[in-house]
Amino acid sequence: MSPRPCSKVSCQEQATVTLTYVYADSMVVLGPLSQHPEPHSYDLCARHSERLSAPQGWQVVRHAVLGDVGFAS
Ligand SMILES: [Zn+2]
Repeated sequence: MSPRPCSKVSCQEQATVTLTYVYADSMVVLGPLSQHPEPHSYDLCARHSERLSAPQGWQVVRHAVLGDVGFAS
């Protein structure tokens, strides 16, 4: 699997999580890096995922992305 860069402009880090906006539920979901880029998803490095702030009224849902879970699945 080829590494993907963080989607933040000017960030050179490798992405470790995928952030998905679920508009229907006003949720921002953070999960393991997705296998394929998706239209409403953004890849983020660990640093930027930790600093993430959701838009007003949105809820942030973090799946098990903290720690080194690897890509075993
Ligand atoms: Zn970053």
